[in-house]
Amino acid sequence: MSVLVFADAANGKFKKSAFEVVSYGKKVAEQLGTNLVALTINVSSNEELYKYGAEKVVSVSENKLATFNAKAYASIIKQVADAENATVIVLDSSIDTLYLAPLVSVSLDAGYASNVVALPSSTAPFTIKRKVFSNKGFANTVISTDKKIIGVAKNSFGIHENPVSGTVQNMEVSLSDGDFTVKSEKVEKVSGKVTIADADVVVSAGRGLKGPENWGMIEELANVLGAATACSKPVSDLGWRPHGEHVGQTGKPVASNLYIAIGISGAIQHLAGVNASKVKVVINTDPEAPFFKAADYGIVGDAFQVVPELITKLKAF
Ligand code: FAD
Repeated sequence: MSVLVFADAANGKFKKSAFEVVSYGKKVAEQLGTNLVALTINVSSNEELYKYGAEKVVSVSENKLATFNAKAYASIIKQVADAENATVIVLDSSIDTLYLAPLVSVSLDAGYASNVVALPSSTAPFTIKRKVFSNKGFANTVISTDKKIIGVAKNSFGIHENPVSGTVQNMEVSLSDGDFTVKSEKVEKVSGKVTIADADVVVSAGRGLKGPENWGMIEELANVLGAATACSKPVSDLGWRPHGEHVGQTGKPVASNLYIAIGISGAIQHLAGVNASKVKVVINTDPEAPFFKAADYGIVGDAFQVVPELITKLKAF
């Protein structure tokens, strides 16, 4: 019996979510008292996954899979799950895996829960908390099949180091022409900006900034730090910033190493999206702002003074 994690990669490099699903899978394996096996496709340096708890990495190399192919990937996951006697399979919940996981579910006769935000219950029945209704609510879903598939919501669990000494096993898989009947083409928009999901540092601002004309200093601070920019919900509702930047319960979750919140009060709905960030820094004029209670470092001060000073100091660094 084992827990199998699919550690997704693009162009031979692990996606950030790969480290999160391995971290998650490790905890599930510990709960079940079993081993964690990670599956990678077309990745040459698999040892990176040991850091997050993968004791064994099954590495599949297949020339025909230069790009994602759901049917072929599903066939590979089934073959590896059978070989490793996996009872729980963990993936992320990206566009690709939301297409892939149901195919694996059918082939393994396994129940599947997507957008999962927490570890499964440690007692029977196997219950799992997931985001539903466009992230507006949560549901506790029971998976009652013998084999179970968990799709972890991006940035909901975080990346946790848990170093082990692991091994890599190269595995030959058999793929038929039928696995390649569907061809998908990926068109990526290149904006040159770091995305919130992949960013190590996020600079986020709220209604305290007074208006969209004041975001220049936020962009500048983000540039100096190589960070992504984000905002609170009212800011995107007011049209000051694009909706894609809205962070929180109804927006994007953030699991960065550093989250800088400027002029954001720290309402629970906002905090719900940033809890997985490691270090939170708050800049706010109001010493009673709730965000200070969740912060690792706080500056009570006016953003219009503090942020330009911070930029000057960082540039001189
Ligand atoms: P405000 O609450 O207006 O806070 C502005 C802050 O800026 C204050 O703390 C003030 O002291 C400070 N400030 C003012 N001037 C300065 C200055 N010059 N320098 C520094 N600080 C200054 N919100 C989200 O963000 N994300 C969500 O996903 C989300 N989902 C929601 C879901 C539901 C169902 C509901 C009901 C609400 C949701 N909200 C969400 C809204 C949330 O409750 C808050 O209203 C919102 O987060 C407040 O945004 P804010 O902190 O930018 O604004």
